[in-house]
Amino acid sequence: ASLVTVLFHLGEMATATQSLDEDTFETLGAELGYKIQIVSPEDEDKELLEGFGLDLEAELEAETDEELEPRAPIVTVMGHVDHGKTRLLDSIRKADVISGEAGGITQHIGAYQVRHDHDGVTRPITFIDTPGHEAFTAMRARGAQVTDIAILVVAADDGVMPQTVEALNHAQAANVPIVVAINKVDKEGANPDKIRQQLTEYNLVSEDWGGDTMFVNVSALQGMGIDELLDAVLLTADAGLDLRANPNKDARGVAVEAHLDKGRGAVATVLVNSGTLRVGDSIVAGTAYGRVRAMFDEYDNPVEEATPARPVLVIGLTSVPGAGDSFIVAEDDRTARQIAEKREAAERAAQLAKRRKRISLEDFNKA
Ligand code: GDP
Ligand code: MG
Repeated sequence: ASLVTVLFHLGEMATATQSLDEDTFETLGAELGYKIQIVSPEDEDKELLEGFGLDLEAELEAETDEELEPRAPIVTVMGHVDHGKTRLLDSIRKADVISGEAGGITQHIGAYQVRHDHDGVTRPITFIDTPGHEAFTAMRARGAQVTDIAILVVAADDGVMPQTVEALNHAQAANVPIVVAINKVDKEGANPDKIRQQLTEYNLVSEDWGGDTMFVNVSALQGMGIDELLDAVLLTADAGLDLRANPNKDARGVAVEAHLDKGRGAVATVLVNSGTLRVGDSIVAGTAYGRVRAMFDEYDNPVEEATPARPVLVIGLTSVPGAGDSFIVAEDDRTARQIAEKREAAERAAQLAKRRKRISLEDFNKA
């Protein structure tokens, strides 16, 4: 019998050149006595790394309580266009209590860390410096979980807009708690309560209205409310997040930004998830590899090591990784190169398969 007939008996109407979804292929395979295995790129990469003796999940699971140390929360700023995300990130940058009079962070490396005085303790907070949920989504698509808390910026003179809703949907889908920054409260006609009201429809209910979301009125333009906003971030982190990591092992993390620099070659800003990254380490980030020649912080100061949630600019990669690519420290240069090369081969194969993604019954018959 032809496959079309088999499918017909299974209750699927199909023509010989039609493409089928994964479920149908599985049913068809089962009917004909084949086991169909659809492998995700993540699973494939996991297997690839296991071939080098690296099982990152098992490694995390094996960590004991005593090995874990507190780390900074990692924050992404999201919201509708022109509601003030870039301005807010600028104001926060200037609020670093350590840099103080120096005028704040001047280097844009894709992420930065500020220190904030909270309840008499100076604590670090890390910000992803590419505002908007595009970056957030792109990173999530690569399986990177780099955000602990989302700041949702809503302009008080404009209210909840389509991208506001998109942003909060993304955060809620990823289970990332939201702090709402009602911005532009300096403007005439600004109505923060209207925003509070609007957001109740999306399950964001402010604490003073009996909910559990922190709302803060700010003016990114005037630098007003920034301390309160940073307090809210830390309170939100302390209320429900277990932000700890083991700093005493080879670093694993994510590249959040990367580009080709005329003088320095491929540069990547990385965020360490666990372990400590050091100058001299052999690393692989996506399909890029190399040895860390030098690292710099957001003040362009050279640093020797980066602990969890500490963003650093890394120099020494042979090529530019993608934003959201994970990175790991490998045993040596050779291992790093081999992992990168295997990934590259896997990527090429996936590209080829994608071009022929729509497998038709004809293909199936030939196989
Ligand atoms: P983004 O598109 O969300 O990054 O928005 P921007 O940060 O670029 O801000 C858009 C515009 O709003 C700019 O002209 C800012 O100067 C202005 N803006 C941002 N924050 C405030 C604020 O707190 N008050 C006022 N009055 N204007 C602001
Ligand atoms: Mg902007």
